[in-house]
Amino acid sequence: MPELPEVEYASRVVRKAVVGRTVRNVRVLHRSQRRGLPPRDAARMRGAVITGVERRGKHQLLALSTGDTFVVHFRMTGDWLVDESGSPPPRFARVVLELDDGMRVSLVDPRALSTATLHRAGMETLPVLGPDAADPGVTVKVFGDSLARRRVSIKVALLDQRVLAGVGNIYAAEALWLARIDPRAVASSLTKARQRRLLEAIRAVLEKAQESTGRYRENGVGRFEVYDRESLPCSRCGTQIDRIVQGARSTYFCPWCQRR
Ligand SMILES: [Zn+2]
Repeated sequence: MPELPEVEYASRVVRKAVVGRTVRNVRVLHRSQRRGLPPRDAARMRGAVITGVERRGKHQLLALSTGDTFVVHFRMTGDWLVDESGSPPPRFARVVLELDDGMRVSLVDPRALSTATLHRAGMETLPVLGPDAADPGVTVKVFGDSLARRRVSIKVALLDQRVLAGVGNIYAAEALWLARIDPRAVASSLTKARQRRLLEAIRAVLEKAQESTGRYRENGVGRFEVYDRESLPCSRCGTQIDRIVQGARSTYFCPWCQRR
């Protein structure tokens, strides 16, 4: 599941491939993508120059010379694949951009849940997002004020992209473990000290993930402290990692280190 570090990595890969290039052709290969990117929008993209790539939370925004923006969200299993045009499209390719240098960029997605849409110039259609989780300018006060308004569990609050954009299920669990906070604690009840510890933990886990993302993607294995480690021993205290369901998502945590 791509979260901020993985999407940041992906946006760098696509930026290198597309900025300054002209879109020769856009092919929409899956019916789920035809809803978001109908033929008239694909046609609008042809001939446009891609002028920049920006990441906002888990959204990737490709700016076009026409003023339109091509917006992609990977959801569960999306990714970019860059290769040469000409051969049949890669497996699971859903949308393919063919560029004027003979290269092509494919949105590949086994589960086909990704979204790819063209936003017309001047239309702001992204959902409301909080400050980026990787933004060093986010203060404990900003983070704490946002939590203070939320009477849901802290784990559920962290998945709300209006709190910090880019944090998802994996790094929310990892940060709560690092900060030794019970994922069931009510967000608005966190003390200032815990808010600070949590913000620092979020930054630490994202930074560590960012450093290892290239390696992680090559090996196909992530190394987590609690995520997906049900019944395995906590590296800090040896207690078995527990799994509960919060907001229809699995939460992994150490019942000893993260007790209330
Ligand atoms: Zn523990």
